[in-house]
Amino acid sequence: MADTQVLEVRNPRTGKADHTIAVASREEVAAKAARLRANQPVWEAMGVGARCGVMARWLGAVKARAMDIGEADAVDTGGCHTSYIQGFITMGNIGGWLEDAPKAFTDLEWQGMSTSMPTVEIESQVVAYPITGVISPWNAPLMLALLDAIPALFAGSAVLLKPSEVTPRVIETLFETVREVPELAAVFDYVTGPGDVGQAVIAEADTICFTGSVLTGRKVAVACAERLIPCNLELGGKDPCIVTATADLDRAATAVLRGAVYATGQVCYSVERVYVHESVHDAFVEKLVALAKEVRLNADNPRAGHIGPFTFAPQAAIVMRHLEDARAKGATVLTGGEIEDIGGGLYLRPTVLTGVTHEMEIMQDETFGPCIPVMAYSDTEEAIRLANDTHFGLTASVIAGDAEEAKAIGKRINAGGIFLQDTFLTFAKLRTFGSDSFGWSGYGAPRIGPESLRRFLRRKSLLTQTGKVADIQDDHHLGKPGA
Ligand code: NDP
Repeated sequence: MADTQVLEVRNPRTGKADHTIAVASREEVAAKAARLRANQPVWEAMGVGARCGVMARWLGAVKARAMDIGEADAVDTGGCHTSYIQGFITMGNIGGWLEDAPKAFTDLEWQGMSTSMPTVEIESQVVAYPITGVISPWNAPLMLALLDAIPALFAGSAVLLKPSEVTPRVIETLFETVREVPELAAVFDYVTGPGDVGQAVIAEADTICFTGSVLTGRKVAVACAERLIPCNLELGGKDPCIVTATADLDRAATAVLRGAVYATGQVCYSVERVYVHESVHDAFVEKLVALAKEVRLNADNPRAGHIGPFTFAPQAAIVMRHLEDARAKGATVLTGGEIEDIGGGLYLRPTVLTGVTHEMEIMQDETFGPCIPVMAYSDTEEAIRLANDTHFGLTASVIAGDAEEAKAIGKRINAGGIFLQDTFLTFAKLRTFGSDSFGWSGYGAPRIGPESLRRFLRRKSLLTQTGKVADIQDDHHLGKPGA
């Protein structure tokens, strides 16, 4: 047997490799998938009620290790506010589906007589895809893996997870809790390694949930198309925020700053472009710059400051490429703008830019860093045109004089989540309501909201003829009552 390949994992705060992962071979991925496939029928047959019982026991195991899970997530990502509460977010995710999963099944079940062929009785059957493959990114490594994995498990699917090679530690800690619940461990497993391992998962799974970049998302979509299996893609964003002439500028500057730099800007729905009415542009920028200068790095204490290091070192180079392109094309950098190496971690302070145009990468491509390019607009039509001048359509924000003014603009923006009078409201949707991603930001059914569990289910119809069978010589009588 060939030697196991090992990959070193960098610590974002020290810049040093202090962890290793084994790269799963194709054979190992296939063996894990075969084990899951063999165990899945029992998991599905036990029904959603019994699965809820198992998942409730897992919730207990996660609760007991919630602090450890948060610590592991913080080491993986470099530590931002939400890392430390990831264990509790996981508990909320499981707990929410404990309430919602049984309802999702009830809504799908149906029994009755056909209206088009009244002698035929129809009964629905709902079956899960045997194996759901989940391929997840580094920026919120636990949350983005479990957002899909947990409803898939509730649906009755087995799950094979491939986390990013950049952030494997938190998944290892999580699986210590999974192994405490044998029925769950029988149908939930993970494999580590780079992109090739993701492809090996696609080769084994019956449906795929991918979260990551547009570039990789395309490769995943092609591989799924080759196998003719469904794929759900959650991709990047270049999310705009419009600030109108009537907006409360303190409110707008506060909301834009948080929406753009939270978690070092490494959030798919970060504010990445700001359009401000020309009459208030300078006053808004002045307030934004003042607030941006108050933001502290968390280099000394990961729990204390606001901005942590880049999780993935090459991301710092991508951000600098966008900044250099913007400077070369005439933009002015008012704050931040330089990567700081502090103890091996790579940091960028909130970077406010003005004088930007849509010819610059920073207004077109996902930056994924704490950068806030601000552009003036002259009327509402122009603001909407600029906001919609993008391949992406994940979220958008509008901050206006009142909610009605903001809503009228928001209704004309092509994006799945529209935040009015604030930014960063995605969490409000989680269990309540799903939405689609537009353009390059996603593909497939919504991943949040009550209907997201249905992505893992197929519906069958059992059709019983209660009347006479049709005669080939006389099939025009089909559909006649009593025929
Ligand atoms: P990537 O696309 O680089 O990687 C995502 C996952 O795919 C990783 O596990 C990666 O493995 C794996 N992978 C890489 N190559 C392949 C391949 N050829 N086939 C199958 N799998 C592969 O994304 P990032 O990890 O860089 O994550 C950041 C991106 O995620 C950003 O664009 C961000 O916007 C997006 N994102 C979208 C969200 C949404 O809900 N819309 C939420 C959060 C992030 P490895 O890392 O080991 O190479």
